[in-house]
Amino acid sequence: MSATDTSARLVSGLRPTGHLQLGHYQAVIRRWTELQYHHDAYFLVADWNALAVSGHTPHEIEQYSWAMVIDCLACGVNPKLATLFIQSWVPELTDIHMILGSVTPKAWLERLPSYREMVAGLGEQQGASFAMLGAPLMQAADILALRGEVVPAGPEQRAHVEFTREVARRFNHRYGRDAGFEEQAERAIARLGKKSGRLYRDWLTAYQEEGDLDAFERARGLLAEQDKLNRHQQERLLGYLEGGGRRILGEPEHWQSETPSLLGMELKASGGGRDEAIFLRSNRREIEACIRDMPTDPARVRRSDPGDPERCPLWSLHQSFTPDADLQWASSGCREASIGCLECKGCLIEHIDTTLAPIRERAEELEGNHGKVRTLMTEGAERARDTVRDTLDELRRVIGLTY
Ligand code: SF4
Repeated sequence: MSATDTSARLVSGLRPTGHLQLGHYQAVIRRWTELQYHHDAYFLVADWNALAVSGHTPHEIEQYSWAMVIDCLACGVNPKLATLFIQSWVPELTDIHMILGSVTPKAWLERLPSYREMVAGLGEQQGASFAMLGAPLMQAADILALRGEVVPAGPEQRAHVEFTREVARRFNHRYGRDAGFEEQAERAIARLGKKSGRLYRDWLTAYQEEGDLDAFERARGLLAEQDKLNRHQQERLLGYLEGGGRRILGEPEHWQSETPSLLGMELKASGGGRDEAIFLRSNRREIEACIRDMPTDPARVRRSDPGDPERCPLWSLHQSFTPDADLQWASSGCREASIGCLECKGCLIEHIDTTLAPIRERAEELEGNHGKVRTLMTEGAERARDTVRDTLDELRRVIGLTY
């Protein structure tokens, strides 16, 4: 499946852990407004996830959730084209989280880099919570419950999408097998011969019972080397390893964002003890204050010193918000020292403000019409619930929990 596949179901979300900043717009929201025209898109405000990992109070998360919804709408996410909803308004998602939790080894969650980073960032007195450990599974449950085929996200999310695929595979393996399939797989194992058959079975068990991914890779490697099996038998054993007979849950793909990352999602101004960022609703004065305080290429000590835009921390912002002609002007002006950093920053401020002005205006209008925003979110949650309920019904049926 490629990024141009317009039939793909797409799922993406953001945690409402603060007000949206320029980096969120550039890396996520702007992309959503493009993707919604070409895909069956579901965008969620992941408030349960925010509660699990952020340490904010529920009241703060509620405030941030509404602000995020309004910002998304103000940026052009269109509820007629995409399903925009608040995660906790679809309670069936937590049921699916629980079902998937029953097949997910704790060790898989513990070894995810995001969890290890979060634990490392906790104070000595503060231990990791159960919800913090389970947050990536919650994210996986959202994607699988919505039958997401693709997940557009930055490279830092690759491990989470891979984890989601592992969970789907494991669920399929446990609940997707039938007797006929088992018999055929057993015959194919017998064809492997005594030694390879035993190895394959040991690794298969280590993967199935303990979630040992190294064992999974070894078993897959062993199958790739077999010439005793025909293609059908190979596929049968690979299917046995990867998910059993039926694919109850699909395995989503990661579409990596091509957007150059801004200087983190937190654009902090440095110096003078300031701690400011450019938010989607920042006014011109605030944008100016932040950009003017940002460092530039350290080689440009004096105005007459030539610089290198690639070494300037502001350059990724320029690339995102400055039109080509002005970008060219800034690039050559910097290299030839024909412009100063103040002029260059002034140009950038202008273009960021031009982008944000209409967003600020629409957000202000929506702030004055909370009834309409609430109705849009109710409708979005109902649409998402229709899909998630179908998935939940199927999962309950296949695991035999139908009373
Ligand atoms: Fe950065 Fe522009 Fe200064 Fe070059 S001229 S160092 S790109 S601010």
